Formats: sequence, C-alpha cells, structure tokens
Amino acid sequence: MHRMTSKQARHTRRAVLQSAIDADARCATADPDLWFRTDDEPQITWQARRAEAIRVCIGCPVRTACEELALRNGDGNHRVDDMVRGGLSGAQLAAARTAEADRLTAAVDADQDTEGRQHDDLSVELRTQAGLNPYGRRNRGRLRQDENRTEQNLRIRALATRIRQIRTARRARAGWAVAA
Ligand code: SF4
Repeated sequence: MHRMTSKQARHTRRAVLQSAIDADARCATADPDLWFRTDDEPQITWQARRAEAIRVCIGCPVRTACEELALRNGDGNHRVDDMVRGGLSGAQLAAARTAEADRLTAAVDADQDTEGRQHDDLSVELRTQAGLNPYGRRNRGRLRQDENRTEQNLRIRALATRIRQIRTARRARAGWAVAA
C-alpha cells in the first residue's frame, strides 16, 4: 500500500487528505473511544489508552495525512490532554501548529481557494475512477466490457490531464515545487 510521505501530505489539499483517511484509517475498524479521553477520566487510565492509540497510529498507512488534516483543523490544545490524532497527543499537535504556523496559514488559505477545491475534486474523482471495475457485471458481453474499459480509460486520461493543467498553472504562478 502506498504511504503518503509527510512532504506529500503538507502539499496536499484537504479533500484529498480526507479521502485518503476515509479509505485507509486504522481507527475506522477500532473502538473510536480509544482516541478520546472521557469526561473526568483519571490521568493514569488515559495515559495507558493514549499510549495504545499512539501505537495504532504509528502503524496507520495514512498517519501523515491524518496529522496534516488535524493541524489544519486546529485540533489539539496545550492545556487539555484529551485526544490523539495522527499519532500525536493534543499538546504535541498544538506545539506542531505553533511551530508551523506560517505554513499552515498558507495551506488553509489554499484549501479554500476555488481552483484548489477543483483540484481536490478532480483528484478524488480520479481515485474513484481508477478503483472501478471496468468489466461490471460478469454477464455483460465482451463488446460491452471493452467499451466500458475504453470509456473508463478516456475519463481517467481526461481527469489526469486537467489535474496536470491546474498544477502546472499554479506552479507557474506561485513557484511551488512539489504539488498544486
Ligand atoms: S493516524 Fe491514528 S487517528 Fe489518524 S487515521 Fe490513522 S489510526 Fe486514525
């Protein structure tokens, strides 16, 4: 399975980050309460659960995407030790957000621009198309299956071209080196 690097995550738009998390989050099949401290939970029991949550996060294929989205969402607090996201405690998230304040401000601004959203939507659509079975139901004829595959390939090519155009235009305007 492809793991997004932290560098890729930093340059990736919100919808793409969320899509990656929705597809592969380890916590999706675990008890969601593990990642949050309950009201009035003693520090001693929370510490044990927090360590276990961090252990699961460390092996999660979308950990870097999750951390990046948590930072953009403003999750975590210096004063309240009550959560884990992306393998970091609330205090660690808050510290990372402070350390990366300028970059995160730019990333959140970019999340909100129209072209960025279009890039995100196209990227999600591309992932969806690439994951579809072009042959559909087995009882369809060979000719129809070939037509489906041809149509799917054309859609994927068109989406990839449009994404590339947006990235190229944005790099030219902003001088970004890695991604749109
Ligand atoms: S890094 Fe942790 S909190 Fe984030 S999706 Fe993975 S398991 Fe869930």
